Amino acid sequence: MARQEFTEETLVLKLGQFREADCWVRFFSPSQGVLTGFAFGGLKSRKRFSGCLDPLSRVLFRVAWDRFGRYLTLCEGSLINRFSGLHRNMSRFGMAVNCIKFLEASHIGTENAAAIFRFTCKTLHFLDTEESVPAFLPLLYRARLTCVYGYFPDLSMCACCRRDIKPGDKAYFAPAQGVLTCIKCRTAHRQGYPVSGELALFLDRILQADPEQWPGLSLPEQWNQSILFLLDVYVQAHMGLVWIKGGFRRT
Ligand SMILES: [Zn+2]
Repeated sequence: MARQEFTEETLVLKLGQFREADCWVRFFSPSQGVLTGFAFGGLKSRKRFSGCLDPLSRVLFRVAWDRFGRYLTLCEGSLINRFSGLHRNMSRFGMAVNCIKFLEASHIGTENAAAIFRFTCKTLHFLDTEESVPAFLPLLYRARLTCVYGYFPDLSMCACCRRDIKPGDKAYFAPAQGVLTCIKCRTAHRQGYPVSGELALFLDRILQADPEQWPGLSLPEQWNQSILFLLDVYVQAHMGLVWIKGGFRRT
């Protein structure tokens, strides 16, 4: 059986040494999701892996399955972007690591992998280059990722009567159900946290925004705690992950 090879831009999530010159590399592939491959001799071969065996690097890898399809070998790599700016800033580096840990814990299979790869690279580029970064960026990343996985809540209208929610309206948002209801329909459903029309529309806007639209984004002070709380409940309910002792764990 001939061994199967593919060459693809990937994102290095983490790596570990297992012999003097060998390491394993967990990386995100836009076609296959989270994969682990072995870079035999990778820690000594400057020619085959020049500067590309570092977490948070965007790398073009040539990869091969062994002849029985049991494990992956990384044959060679070319560095595309190491996002060096975020490595020089501990706060941004911490945010990037938090995002990558969530990606590694949440992603299963190949579905949506291309969209998630693009979104994650844009997030790292944002952390690498933007002058100002919102403090809640990791939560924003997790919430947007939850939307990309298909749990996007419609926060522009009532889920029951389809009436548009406008500024000045009172509404109720149930993040676990991903449902917004107007004040009339809430009587029937009795679920959700009270939100103003303005807050619902702001949440709708930030959940739809890609990193290109993040510059200058900040949370209005009066909604700060409400937004952080609602986004956190929304992500935990749909992705089933909580941050415990430095990592994301299934609830
Ligand atoms: Zn309604």
